[in-house]
Amino acid sequence: MIELPEATVLAGQINQTVTGKRIKKVTANQSPHKFAWYTGDPAAYHARLVGKTIHAAAASAGEVEIQVDGMRLILGAALRYYDAGEKLPPKHQLLVEIEGGGALVATIQMWGCLFCVGEGEEVGFADYRLGRERPSPLTAAFDRPYFDDLIRESSGSLSAKAFLATEQRIPGLGNGVLQDILWTARIHPKRKMETLSGGETGQLYQAVKTVLQAMVNQGGRDTERDLYGRVGGYRTILSKNTVGTPCPVCGTIIKKEAYLGGSIYFCEGCQK
Ligand SMILES: [Zn+2]
Repeated sequence: MIELPEATVLAGQINQTVTGKRIKKVTANQSPHKFAWYTGDPAAYHARLVGKTIHAAAASAGEVEIQVDGMRLILGAALRYYDAGEKLPPKHQLLVEIEGGGALVATIQMWGCLFCVGEGEEVGFADYRLGRERPSPLTAAFDRPYFDDLIRESSGSLSAKAFLATEQRIPGLGNGVLQDILWTARIHPKRKMETLSGGETGQLYQAVKTVLQAMVNQGGRDTERDLYGRVGGYRTILSKNTVGTPCPVCGTIIKKEAYLGGSIYFCEGCQK
């Protein structure tokens, strides 16, 4: 899986690199992965895509959607581009070789999707549909009244982490980007939503908007890699890179804990 800022960066780079080129060969499921989801038989991907032209890519929730002559590739996976002659990784879940050289490679870490659908075909995953029905937090439609409605419609007993990063409530906002959003809002990941003051709700809304945009503007997070294998330029404040180091604001040592099926990072000084 990837998250919204990195999906946005990857989509932009795909547009600069492979858009307009034709697909020579597709290899799907070469290294079977228990949590790699395909639509139908991955062995059919080659026949469905060969000879077709790659058009525009765009981020949608935590996926990169690539238009390909009457088809769509919907990729929620780490994506890399390799130039002609570059050594390809031995393991991958999707390899798209380009006419004239070069290849797009998708690999799944924990879990992720590699859908290939024709026009009018449904993607039969509920999470995928949910993520498309709601506005992206990077758009103007995701405004303060909309955010307040999201809070009202959800249970007040949800923790801040569960509110932000479960049920596709905010498309593409996952457990990675969540950490710096909550730190910026000065809210602990375990805080119950019903205990937030009006001011804190405002801080949380602002943090969702500004932190995600900063991550996009700076080429993704420094814990993730872009299409060319470079780490992103956004320096994470709370992540595996900073755990055990002092908080840049208050100097308290940044902690890591397991919570709700993933790690949380927090500063006990800033996030009460
Ligand atoms: Zn702090």
